[in-house]
Amino acid sequence: MRLLLVEDDEMLCAQLAADLGRAGYAVDTARDGVEGEFLGRETAYDAVILDLGLPGLPGLEVLGRWRGAGNPVPVIVLTARDAWHERVAGFKAGADDYLGKPFHVEELLARVGALLRRRGGQAGPVVAAGGIRLDEDRQEAILPDGAVVPLTGTEFRLLRVFMLHPDRILSKTRLTEHVYDQDFDRDSNVIEVYVRRLRDKIGQERILTRKGQGYVFPGAGG
Ligand code: CA
Repeated sequence: MRLLLVEDDEMLCAQLAADLGRAGYAVDTARDGVEGEFLGRETAYDAVILDLGLPGLPGLEVLGRWRGAGNPVPVIVLTARDAWHERVAGFKAGADDYLGKPFHVEELLARVGALLRRRGGQAGPVVAAGGIRLDEDRQEAILPDGAVVPLTGTEFRLLRVFMLHPDRILSKTRLTEHVYDQDFDRDSNVIEVYVRRLRDKIGQERILTRKGQGYVFPGAGG
């Protein structure tokens, strides 16, 4: 899943990007409102974490422009602690959730995870599809027979994308975007290698090849 983090505090931005990366997200960062607004407009992110106090263009204005253009991306706004009026203004501008600074990164991860599950049509507290459950903290897959399968970081990122988009054709390009950060040298052929490894771990029939189009994760039995 690909996230955009718009935060002008350099240390906080670097720290959060590292934490989100460890949690298995591909993360793009922007340090001012103008760049953030541009990235959010040009790229289809799964969610955005948006600081409200930004140089260039205030966060509320960034959000207002996206919503005005019909961009439905889920947005968590970062607000000053106890600034209830900022939270209200954020929701009115189209935010889906907020977090007051300072916060624990665990709370941010929990909120991001919840937003992505809801958006993926998941009712429960864990990602589940195709009879498989995903333990996001331990980055493990739990198969229908209860077998626990440890995943590498890339395998986990890939499987989470599949499970949050069941029964949909996902192209190699699209999958690459979800797995790697902006600076990575993207080679979509690498996806084939990781899909093969995932199949070896969770079952060949769980990821279908659509020739010339990409891959499908059948969601029945989820
Ligand atoms: Ca700020």
